[in-house]
Amino acid sequence: MEHRYSELGKWSEDIVIEKGKVIGLVKNAVIRASTTFREDQVKVYENAIEGETNEASRWALESILRNAALSERKHSYPLCNDTGTPHLYVEIGENAQLPPGVFPAIVDGVRRGLRDLPARPMAVKGEPMERIEQTKGLYKDPGMLVPGPPVIENIPGRQIHITVIMLGGGPELRSKTYRIYHSKNAENLLEETTRWALEEVARLGCTPCVPAIGIGRTHYEATALMLRAMRYGRFDRQSRWETKIAETINRSGVGPIGLGGRTTALGAFLEIGPQRASGARIVCMRLGCCYDPRRATVTIE
Ligand code: SF4
Repeated sequence: MEHRYSELGKWSEDIVIEKGKVIGLVKNAVIRASTTFREDQVKVYENAIEGETNEASRWALESILRNAALSERKHSYPLCNDTGTPHLYVEIGENAQLPPGVFPAIVDGVRRGLRDLPARPMAVKGEPMERIEQTKGLYKDPGMLVPGPPVIENIPGRQIHITVIMLGGGPELRSKTYRIYHSKNAENLLEETTRWALEEVARLGCTPCVPAIGIGRTHYEATALMLRAMRYGRFDRQSRWETKIAETINRSGVGPIGLGGRTTALGAFLEIGPQRASGARIVCMRLGCCYDPRRATVTIE
């Protein structure tokens, strides 16, 4: 793809098509992330249904999967009424050329996706303190919900990957970013993180859960790594540690929507970043819900 732009640094006549393409791709990514289960997500539910011995819990898992199939068929029927806050994970090839205005185009794509979905209107009006107190009410337009700050990663090659991740409110209430002293034992650290998940999982409500975990040097880095775990995590490629975390949570017996049974966690996604000379590690654990991760990736050549 050739990026041409005018001397004024605005999208030229030629680039209008490309800008439109970026907007369209991102708009579709918002809709896909919000309505469609990926193959590994369908498979993990099918396996859970097969292995579930509790009848009520099996019914709950089947209902979630049926709802996902309906959502995908209608393509404008969100997986959940809490359509979430869009977050962007942007990977830029070291040889990619970014046309001016690409970020506003991405944000425009998100806005249009939220409108077309349609997402639940969730943007709060007002000045900073009014927004905290929610005294001015909400915008009716779902497109007023601006995405969270993007995570940017440098990758080899010429491509740009844009991943839209929709983050629902329930998991945000059950998540934690804090330090853990590792005592030179990585297993201790993961056990403590799993304890955080166990403390909250019964209160999540929308189980089975999907904990996404980032371990880094700072709170910012741990959170960015947690988002990376949501961008790359797959249910059919679980590491030994991810499997152990999920198995421990499953032993809690909370089950789908708290009905008991064998399926409290569908899997876990773990990203470990660079570490610094210290006795503490900063861990971000987001206790994702039954539709997580709601994500879709588009690629610009
Ligand atoms: S926790 Fe997840 S499934 Fe439950 S309401 Fe929130 S986004 Fe929807």
